[in-house]
Amino acid sequence: MQIADRCVASFHYTLTNGHGDVLDSSVGREPLTYLQGKGNIVAGLEKAMAGKSAGDKFEVDVSPEEGYGARQQGMIQVVPRSAFQGIDTLEPGMQFQSQGSHGPMSVVVTAIEGDEVTVDGNHPLAGETLHFAIEVTDVREASVEEVLHGHVHGAGGHHH
Ligand SMILES: [Zn+2]
Repeated sequence: MQIADRCVASFHYTLTNGHGDVLDSSVGREPLTYLQGKGNIVAGLEKAMAGKSAGDKFEVDVSPEEGYGARQQGMIQVVPRSAFQGIDTLEPGMQFQSQGSHGPMSVVVTAIEGDEVTVDGNHPLAGETLHFAIEVTDVREASVEEVLHGHVHGAGGHHH
């Protein structure tokens, strides 16, 4: 069967950036399993998956607009060192959970100057064109419960 809304599809992927650096890959692990049509994966990849069948291999480029979004200057903030109480050594590259306007978000420390700490809440892949190499391994119809929940249950999926 072909991938369409209300299908559960499994696939292997290798994600590279514009320089050909491998950012992430499922090869050697379990394939990723998701529910088509619910935004479980980035929009550009979900669009490219439609109509594919088990055994299909393809490559797709996903723009930031259909990937993790453009980098937003507003997601970069300077906060005082005192906001990191209980942390003895603060270094660029450290990640923290922070309370954003849309719930918890992950921020990365990008610079420290005296008492001023710059944190970036952009997704690490924001602004990147994503290159996916995909191999579809399985396609099945979603259960009614999966469609109602908007995610996959069982092997490779969400557990309650
Ligand atoms: Zn569920």
